[in-house]
Amino acid sequence: MNNFDSRVVVVTGGSRDIGRSIALKFSGEKPRIIIVHYDPDEADSEKTLNELSLRGVQAFSHRIDVSSFDAMDRLFGDIISEFGRIDVLINNAGITRDKLLMRMSEEDWDRVIGINLQGVFNCTKAAIRSMIRQKKGNIVNISSVVGQMGNAGQSNYCASKAGIMGFTKSIAREVAGRGINVNAVAPGFIDTGMTAVLPENVKEKFMQQIPLGRLGRPEDIAEAVYWLCSDAAGYITGQIIHVNGGLYM
Ligand code: NAD
Repeated sequence: MNNFDSRVVVVTGGSRDIGRSIALKFSGEKPRIIIVHYDPDEADSEKTLNELSLRGVQAFSHRIDVSSFDAMDRLFGDIISEFGRIDVLINNAGITRDKLLMRMSEEDWDRVIGINLQGVFNCTKAAIRSMIRQKKGNIVNISSVVGQMGNAGQSNYCASKAGIMGFTKSIAREVAGRGINVNAVAPGFIDTGMTAVLPENVKEKFMQQIPLGRLGRPEDIAEAVYWLCSDAAGYITGQIIHVNGGLYM
């Protein structure tokens, strides 16, 4: 049993798929959960809030772009004013804009780096003040297997996810003495909206490379994230935990 009772958990990209699964995984111990998303509408976030509410969790949703430094600074400031603390930050918001370099625009590059990497910086910087004051906290950043392997057509995405790995290790070193653990989870090929749009032949090619013989589920990622934030993982910081069915070893 972990001590999440009445703690404050923030999950970016928490409206659906991996982020929703992470939020639901934390729900068992009734923390207060704040999800941040940037969907065009509130349909998915409302579904997540409803599921959390059915489990008796006080949950809130904000539709705000994580790539805006000022907006994140304000949001986390408001969360700290309202709840007095932030115990867990899961930096999960992310997008793809896949193109070969020859066709990739500066906007494709900037948007992916802005959300996937700058967004992690923005939220971490805004949340860490509270964690330092509390002398306790957990941050888990969602990277990707391709941040390590590379992937043709995803140079912007892979650069952002590799950047997350370096950022994670650096911040882990900076705040280890303050009782804050900072880790990353690098998912493999997970069955979500992000991968549903890929052509069948691309999915088939990935499948052939996965020793465990199946796509990952959002719950596979949520399990690892939750464990990293538990007392059981208290001696783990600065690590990249791969959850990929053996796709990359
Ligand atoms: P998804 O597209 O289903 O959900 C993405 C979430 O991020 C949504 O809640 C969306 O609103 C939010 N988001 C997007 N842009 C945002 C912005 N500007 N500001 C705030 N929120 C924003 O994606 P998913 O498959 O659940 O992926 C979640 C994370 O896992 C991402 O970081 C992704 O890169 C990573 N990941 C996914 C896979 C996979 O196979 N699905 C593999 C490796 C890593």
